[in-house]
Amino acid sequence: MIATIGRPRPYESRMAPRRTSLSSGRDDTGGAAAGPPRWPVMGLMRSDPVLEVAGLRKSYGSVQAVRNISLTVAPGEIVALLGPNGAGKTTTLEILEGFRQRDGGVARVLGLDPGHRATGRELRERTGLVLQDIAVEPYLTLRETLAREAGYYARPREVAEVITLVGLAGLERRKVRTFSGGQKRRLDLALGLIGRPELLFLDEPTTGFDAAARRDAWQLVRDLRAAGTTILLTTHDMEEAQALADRVVVVSGGLVVAEGPPSAIGGRDAERARISFALGNGYTAADLPLAATAHDGLIVVEATDPTRALHLLTGWAMQHDTLLAGLTVARPSLEDVYLRLTNDDAPAGVPERTTR
Ligand code: ATP
Repeated sequence: MIATIGRPRPYESRMAPRRTSLSSGRDDTGGAAAGPPRWPVMGLMRSDPVLEVAGLRKSYGSVQAVRNISLTVAPGEIVALLGPNGAGKTTTLEILEGFRQRDGGVARVLGLDPGHRATGRELRERTGLVLQDIAVEPYLTLRETLAREAGYYARPREVAEVITLVGLAGLERRKVRTFSGGQKRRLDLALGLIGRPELLFLDEPTTGFDAAARRDAWQLVRDLRAAGTTILLTTHDMEEAQALADRVVVVSGGLVVAEGPPSAIGGRDAERARISFALGNGYTAADLPLAATAHDGLIVVEATDPTRALHLLTGWAMQHDTLLAGLTVARPSLEDVYLRLTNDDAPAGVPERTTR
């Protein structure tokens, strides 16, 4: 979704009105509505997780949006939350950002309890948000919008630096209501960065970007991480998760169903490679030195050891003076694995954890 211009400012949207349900929420840690947080606020060690969630639960009436979500994010990590529509990603993010009160479970963000009113200000100072519909004042210029937001932080980045970082240089004096969809989304990113956050929440950050802008945004995210920012993002774009995330956490029906590096999640790296090509000169699958099948005019070989299989196939082709036309080798994509994991028929039990 594209950012909506003309609603309350992001800073306002992070304040009390969205927290009206706070007092009705129950907190298993006992710390949501009263009393000090149980973890030291300023004593976070460098190696401590930036974000820790265990057994998180949240219902809206009879809808169990978050049934049991646990995840940890280490300093400097980029973690992507993946899941189908309605899986509970945004609700999880909103709880971690302090917008929503959880019904149960433990949540710690930079050592702070996001459900605790007294830590709200510090949490806002130390985190950055890029939400799906950030609201800004439409008649302010780009520079005014960012300068105003910068005023809320103790150590903001320079406005000019942020404008350059998000690729909006040259538009400083333009009113933000005239921005295109992609330019508004870049402004959202700029608003998330201006406070120099230690932890950045990105909710579908490149929706509405053109291909080049998406690549630039990915590079920006990598640069931020290199500069020490920890990032938790949600996305429906598997290429984005593959390109950016150190780890993906797949959520379905309010539960974590798998987590691991994008290259290995769900046993992806151990699955068979699919080698496909076309044969000429009247040869068929039966002539090949290993088991193969024919599909839509292509020969397909499923290989647990693709190096050996390719050696056999190319050796055979050279020997028979023929070609393996259009030869491709493919492993299951992240999308293939994701679709399998989030299939409605997939068992909802203990999440698969891949540590490779
Ligand atoms: P998407 O990918 O579509 O953004 P999501 O994974 O972020 O989905 P959530 O927005 O967290 O999912 O929603 C989880 C469930 O909770 C859905 O069934 C949704 O309809 C419901 N839900 C979310 N917000 C509310 C609300 N304010 N009141 C009632 N139900 C809600």
